[in-house]
Amino acid sequence: MTESTSSNSDHNTNPLPKTYPCPECGNQTAWQDNKYKPFCSHHCKLIDLGAWASEEYTLPAESTPFSDEL
Ligand SMILES: [Zn+2]
Repeated sequence: MTESTSSNSDHNTNPLPKTYPCPECGNQTAWQDNKYKPFCSHHCKLIDLGAWASEEYTLPAESTPFSDEL
């Protein structure tokens, strides 16, 4: 009796680093070792943060509870 042990060594090593387009400028950016992810650089991160902050400031003023004057 011969026992054929089929050892399926699944070597699925991906040498290619995971890259994606920067949401700000569209440059191909590596995900690994990227402290600015999901952006490609500190610059793009700042831009996005700035846009987010300005959006916050442009929020329409809702009915303020302090409309007691007049
Ligand atoms: Zn970028």
